[in-house]
Amino acid sequence: MNSLEKNTAEALFGALKKQKYHMVGSHSAVKRCKWLYESIINGRPCYKQKFYGIKSHRCLQMSPSLYYCTQECLFCWRAQSGDLQVTWDEMKIPKVDPPEEIVEGCFKAQEKILTGYKGNSKTDWRKFQEALRPKQVAISLTGEPTLYEPLGELIRTFHQKGLTTFLVSNGTLPSKLSRLSQEPTQLYISTCAPNEQIYKKVCRPEFPSAWERLNETLELLQSFSCPTVLRMTLVKNHNMAEVGDYAGLVKKANPKYIEAKAYMHIGFSGLRLGFENMPSHGQVKEFAEKLAEKTGYRILDEAPESRVVLLSRLQKPVHVGAD
Ligand code: SF4
Ligand code: SF4
Repeated sequence: MNSLEKNTAEALFGALKKQKYHMVGSHSAVKRCKWLYESIINGRPCYKQKFYGIKSHRCLQMSPSLYYCTQECLFCWRAQSGDLQVTWDEMKIPKVDPPEEIVEGCFKAQEKILTGYKGNSKTDWRKFQEALRPKQVAISLTGEPTLYEPLGELIRTFHQKGLTTFLVSNGTLPSKLSRLSQEPTQLYISTCAPNEQIYKKVCRPEFPSAWERLNETLELLQSFSCPTVLRMTLVKNHNMAEVGDYAGLVKKANPKYIEAKAYMHIGFSGLRLGFENMPSHGQVKEFAEKLAEKTGYRILDEAPESRVVLLSRLQKPVHVGAD
């Protein structure tokens, strides 16, 4: 099954299968994004199609580090050590699968996911045919992808197959990001606390210098040639104050975009937070307006259905999606 202890692997595998994760090798997974379904069945794409032009129906959502991360964020939908009465070392992927195998496994998993659409009378058949040939991969599902040592090779392999890549990292391993052998199409750094005190409470890092490391990553961000994004997951009553401190982090990183997005009460986050911790779109917008005032970034777009607001210094976002 994988290199975790047998009882741990069985508990995790069972729970994640129920949540419709498709396991790939020993530490990766693909999961159908809600917006893949919405795009093919109801003609409603995700906000990243609206902002950046990627096609939701041709997007594959995966993780190369399903059970592994350097943080235990309160708002995370990932199964964390201790959640299912089993524990494991979350900081180390014990057996490393080769990138080519992961990419092939992801394509097969996506095909399996799409098989379910054949019996749906509302399926858009043109989109369905296109979906069988994914053009975009979100390396973001769960876990910290920089824990997967050959991450640059994985990104390169996806690019060689004609896909664009959006990589989401929590920024706690700057040395891994600086050594990435291939940049993604767009790089996201989760910046979900304005200062160290709140960071420790909300993002619950697994090692003491994580806040310093995240700040190192923010400083490193300008050395990337790809578009960079600070992703702020906002949790009501936890990390939506001290906007001035967030502005300081933005100044340090000088990202191309900021995405301010509401926490969603899904997956294992239900063990740690309640529905009342989800801010409304209005509250996210209010946060974004204050941030815009303090940073000089402007609000470019928003998607109320996903409770997300996009900020940038640009006049409009650059589309990276291919047809
Ligand atoms: S970009 Fe993200 S939200 Fe959009 S379809 Fe892909 S995984 Fe889903
Ligand atoms: S960094 Fe991401 S995967 Fe890791 S605990 Fe936080 S939300 Fe979950």
